[in-house]
Amino acid sequence: MKVAKFGGSSLASAERIKSVCDIVAADKSRRIVVVSAPGKASAADTKVTDLLIACAKKHLETGSAKAEMKAVVDRYAALQCGLGLSPDILRRIEADLTARLTEDTADPARFIDTMKAAGEDNCAWLVAEAMRQRGIDAHYVHPGEAGMLLSSEFGDARVLEESYAKLGALKDAPGITVFPGFFGVTLEGAVVTLPRGGSDITGAVRAAAVKAELYENFTDVDSVFSADHRVVPDAKPIQVLTYDEMRELSYAGFGVFHDEAIVPAVEAGIPICIRNTHRPEAPGTMVVPKRDHEHCSVVGIASSDGFCSMLVKKYMMNRELGFGRRLLEILEDEGLSYEHTPSGIDNMSVILSESELTSAVEKRVLARVSEELKAESDVERGLALIMIVGEGMRYSVGVAARATGALASAEVNIEMMNQGSSEISMMFGVKSEDKDKAVRSLYAAFFDA
Ligand code: ASP
Repeated sequence: MKVAKFGGSSLASAERIKSVCDIVAADKSRRIVVVSAPGKASAADTKVTDLLIACAKKHLETGSAKAEMKAVVDRYAALQCGLGLSPDILRRIEADLTARLTEDTADPARFIDTMKAAGEDNCAWLVAEAMRQRGIDAHYVHPGEAGMLLSSEFGDARVLEESYAKLGALKDAPGITVFPGFFGVTLEGAVVTLPRGGSDITGAVRAAAVKAELYENFTDVDSVFSADHRVVPDAKPIQVLTYDEMRELSYAGFGVFHDEAIVPAVEAGIPICIRNTHRPEAPGTMVVPKRDHEHCSVVGIASSDGFCSMLVKKYMMNRELGFGRRLLEILEDEGLSYEHTPSGIDNMSVILSESELTSAVEKRVLARVSEELKAESDVERGLALIMIVGEGMRYSVGVAARATGALASAEVNIEMMNQGSSEISMMFGVKSEDKDKAVRSLYAAFFDA
């Protein structure tokens, strides 16, 4: 049995939904289909999830959101009409949205999640209908009824262990199950969403729960590429990646697959294939436990900006037991999670997401570092992190020399460097304005040489 997940861009128009139906019909083992909410068919479009967030926020602010609600209904109306489905389905979607708007708003995060979940939920309903119209025995299943149990962290939930047994029981459901991604329910029964892009996680959980032979993740590119195409237009496609490489690359900026979706697949040992809805014949990228590293030390270069570095300095820091813990505790108290902590004898840097470290939080943290740790600290903003990834790096000599040499020739100043002890990735912190130049130079050093 295969689990096939289709991303928002694959469901953004009636034509694309028809392709989804064809792909599902072409392989009888595709028994579980997980769908995102309709995404962008063109650059000018807005994702249905973003329309729903706007709708929820307007309702919370003003008690009404007519125009925002119409924008959502219009997207579904275009799909219903383009697919030639009965107008009843649109009436059902409208009624569902109206009902959600009457939910309790006392907890805004919970209310927003109820609205956000409408994107995937109604899309699954509509896709199941489109499949049935084409003679496919498709059945919509609600995640709450199926047992997709999540923690009650609204907007950022985690999958609860007990989900697997419950979802596994659906293995023998008749026909094809069409399952909405991105949301589940808490133990108390409230609708709650995973992090953005979380339908990838739903697909992985469903695949793990039924011990699928393959988890197919359909998106709008032929494969995962070794660097961002917008930066390196001729970046090479990657045929095979390990789970760990994919997780590192996803976390460091490859938007094609959610980094949290790797874990359920790893635990159940299920291979993942990332492939193109518009070119299903293309082989895609396989993500597997192991690969041959011999001729390839670096497989991909990811980058993302929006980071800052907090540099903390204190002489004899190396002799002070518990300094690092106390510093990180201050961040924990402020609800800040950190990315890396490169350190020296008398200094320690903490890399954080810039959006989390607002100026008010920054002020508080710096004051506490000075008062409680008697250390000097400062924040540098506008950083990008570049990550070179590859399990083969473990067995190759000179990777760091090659990388730093490439950055030096491109006149990129390295603000910091970090290599995890697993030696599967190496991180370079550079100024945001140098990000693309840095990626191009590293790409040339590892892939064009
Ligand atoms: N629709 C949600 C989002 O836009 C989840 C997903 O597409 O995976 O983030």
